[in-house]
Amino acid sequence: MRVSRSFMPLLRETPAEAQIVSHRYMLRAGLIRQQAAGIYSWLPLGHRVLRKIEQIVREEQDRAGAIELLMPTLQPADLWRESSRYDAYGKEMLRIKDRHERDLLYGPTNEEMVTDIFRSAVRSYKDMPRILYHIQWKFRDEIRPRFGVMRGREFLMKDSYSFDVDAAGARRAYNKMFVAYLRTFARLGLKSVPMKADTGPIGGDLSHEFIVLADTGESQVYCHKDLVDMPVPENVDFDGDLEPYIKERTSLYAATDEKHDAEAFTKIPEDKRLAARGIEVGHIFYFGTKYSKPMNAKVAGPNGDDVLVEMGSYGIGVSRLLGAIIEASHDDAGIIWPESVAPYRVGLISLKPDDPKTRQVCDDLYQKLGAAGVEVLYDDTDERAGAKFSTFDLIGLPWQVIVGPRGLATNQVEIKNRKTGERQTLAPEAALNLFTRRT
Ligand code: ATP
Ligand code: MG
Repeated sequence: MRVSRSFMPLLRETPAEAQIVSHRYMLRAGLIRQQAAGIYSWLPLGHRVLRKIEQIVREEQDRAGAIELLMPTLQPADLWRESSRYDAYGKEMLRIKDRHERDLLYGPTNEEMVTDIFRSAVRSYKDMPRILYHIQWKFRDEIRPRFGVMRGREFLMKDSYSFDVDAAGARRAYNKMFVAYLRTFARLGLKSVPMKADTGPIGGDLSHEFIVLADTGESQVYCHKDLVDMPVPENVDFDGDLEPYIKERTSLYAATDEKHDAEAFTKIPEDKRLAARGIEVGHIFYFGTKYSKPMNAKVAGPNGDDVLVEMGSYGIGVSRLLGAIIEASHDDAGIIWPESVAPYRVGLISLKPDDPKTRQVCDDLYQKLGAAGVEVLYDDTDERAGAKFSTFDLIGLPWQVIVGPRGLATNQVEIKNRKTGERQTLAPEAALNLFTRRT
């Protein structure tokens, strides 16, 4: 993308309403625009990041054996009357009437709808187990939307639902999602810690929140320090026994405020105790027959008798993750995107677009990098060099390639790594190789 043809509305001033760094940078770098309290447009740069996060979440769900579908944002109230949650959910649910006076709602979550889909289609244990998921916008009329996309009213969630014939099967599904979540957050460049959690309006007995530690997080959490840097499971066989991965983590103390046990916490050696703030990026629940029972979701079991389906649900805050990633990775100059989610991998900065040689080298690099599949944002505008540098630091692409007449006099361009600040000078061909060689 050429900056001269792009749509990147940056803000010069720090917006007064933004209280935390991720919100400030998301507004200043033109990733989002607020349209109403807690409701945002995703501008092109932010949209690219959102799609990349979504894709990583999807890949790890698929790897764990979950199957993607797409349910609507609007749901009939009647489904929620079946589970008795229509009245129980309270003011967070946005209720709507259509022209026929029928009650609808903008889904805050999808347990009822997915249970309805499942019960209409599956009759036998032979078609189980299954995990279904979708990535869809949710609406919760939060009392205090704040911190930008961290606590929005409309937000993008990945939510999965598992269906099993018995509790042991449901536990296996829970473990799959547990491990998939560890992998997902690691690929996003985040250190996440699974912590014992409350089940809230979803209900159920077993639950973990995945927390990214950050001073600006809304949750107070307590854990054993060793959990923070515990290596992420690689080469996982999702059909095998995942229990060891879970044990390794759940045998160390980790709990959110609601589940905190001060006495158990003090049993951790003092230098290993961590009381901190965190951001909830994912939440998994096992709730058994909480929905299958009132909604009568049954299948024929192995011995011919009907059994109620055992279920769990598993959420990831896809749009909240942008905020979490920025909170975890930034400096005074701006965002530092991990390569896996950066809107573009390389920023190509032309210091003098009206110099023929500079233009020719830049155009050539832009064309060749693009042909090799490297995503490049090419600043071909006649903006001052200093302004370009600060823009590219702000938007946080992992690499900058800086090209100007002075360097080209000795056939050199400069490469800057946004994260480390390291710079190297290379011939243009060598710079090209740096980004196109296979690793
Ligand atoms: P919270 O405690 O932060 O209000 P929750 O426990 O109500 O969240 P869940 O029902 O567990 O949320 O939803 C799954 C995931 O969706 C959460 O882990 C979080 O990452 C994300 N999420 C929930 N509410 C919001 C929101 N208002 N804005 C952005 N993301 C959200
Ligand atoms: Mg939660």
